[in-house]
Amino acid sequence: MLIDGHGREVNYLRISVTQRCNFRCQYCMPEKPFSWQPKENLLSFEELFLFVKVAIDEGVNKIRITGGEPLLRKDLDTFISLIHNHKADIDLALTTNAYLLRKTAQKLKDAGLKRVNISLDTLKPHKARLIAQKDILGEVLKGIDEALKVGLKVKLNCVPMRGINDKELVEILEYCKQRDSQIRFIEYMENSHANNKLKGLHCEEIENIIKQKYNFKKLGRIGSSPSELYELEDGYRFGIINPHKHDFCETCNRIRLNAEGLLIPCLYFDEALSIKDCVKKGDIAGAAEVLRTVLRNKPEKNRWSVEEDNETSARAFYETGG
Ligand code: SAM
Repeated sequence: MLIDGHGREVNYLRISVTQRCNFRCQYCMPEKPFSWQPKENLLSFEELFLFVKVAIDEGVNKIRITGGEPLLRKDLDTFISLIHNHKADIDLALTTNAYLLRKTAQKLKDAGLKRVNISLDTLKPHKARLIAQKDILGEVLKGIDEALKVGLKVKLNCVPMRGINDKELVEILEYCKQRDSQIRFIEYMENSHANNKLKGLHCEEIENIIKQKYNFKKLGRIGSSPSELYELEDGYRFGIINPHKHDFCETCNRIRLNAEGLLIPCLYFDEALSIKDCVKKGDIAGAAEVLRTVLRNKPEKNRWSVEEDNETSARAFYETGG
């Protein structure tokens, strides 16, 4: 079992397999970075898998593949099947923008993928173009349909932004409800890579918008889930992820690995240690030691919750995987 320096059990590894993305979302990567990491700096799937085995041996039982856009990385299904064939009961999930999912969903499901979280910030083509700076919505919706068709469990993620998609939160909720997929509204997390004019909606504002049409009861946070859950009168559940709330980090159970081998204990802070040398040498004991060191030093709290200081993270979401 992995316990961090603040007594929290960590059992969830998120792996960002590439920093590259085919969208330029305003809240994440509005502009292409000055340069991408050269391909030779990326760990291969075999190298990432070596670390995955170490993490599983130490107590990780939940793995999410993310990015950048993970479907841009060739042969992602091979990586998924490596993990699935090693331990079939791992809760194996993917976060994607779904642009390439129509063609890949079946292959990913066959490889052992169980669940997929898909970003859906709007149902209006012109707003999607404004947010992602590309004509995306048609392909994204087809990707969602395909994921459901092949039997993947689907959740949708939406970042509510003032003056951009705040008028259509109910419509987005209803789209997800019709598909029996949970929508999670994620509070915009201020970061220095995003468009600095963006203003996100806070949890209470999102609640108030939904309240105009639906009665719901608040179920709160269940287990180590980052989202507060809500239930409509007909039993449909939606979530709000509120990293600005003071107690958000109390149940944090996650650690992040990026494509260059940096092991990152917190989405907010820059601190990280590399497992690259260890996996290149096949040094399993060394990789396990790096993992334990990172956990010992996992910060207690992010600083988005420090509202009076209006804190902004310097970490890029497309590097860390959101
Ligand atoms: N490309 C994939 C996608 O679009 O889902 C995976 C990577 S993306 C960085 C993962 C998640 O992070 C998405 O749900 C996205 O909405 C969220 N995200 C990115 N930047 C964010 C920000 N500044 N605030 C809140 N959520 C953010």
